[in-house]
Amino acid sequence: MIAAVHALTGAALGGLCQSRGQAAALGAISHLAADALPHRDLKVSEEAVLLGAALGMIGVTQGWGSREFAGAVGAVLPDVENVVARALDIPQSRLLLPTHRGYHGRRTSGFRGQLALALASLAVLLGPRSRCANKRERGNSS
Ligand SMILES: [Zn+2]
Repeated sequence: MIAAVHALTGAALGGLCQSRGQAAALGAISHLAADALPHRDLKVSEEAVLLGAALGMIGVTQGWGSREFAGAVGAVLPDVENVVARALDIPQSRLLLPTHRGYHGRRTSGFRGQLALALASLAVLLGPRSRCANKRERGNSS
């Protein structure tokens, strides 16, 4: 799964949590579920650009210390395993996370599923309910 989609999904789920710790944990769990869906990945350079844009958008719109940002980080962290494996030339069959051990028939040629997941997550993140919750939180903290 594209890392930026993991970030958006984790952020949307993080907003449902009571704390940043819960948000990060739920984000990490969402990573496994999202990786199990049919998908394809991008080149590392393309993944990095999209991930930077997604995390930047989440940080700016939801707050860098928000549950949403914690959920995004938690959702992306499991892919550190993929980055380390590529850097050290470790075969996919030896990776720890089962969803990182190859596509297992879940590879698709398109991005429709990931795009749908990203758009649904964006709707949750930027929708009217999210804006109300963020305003309430800012009001309580000042
Ligand atoms: Zn992954």
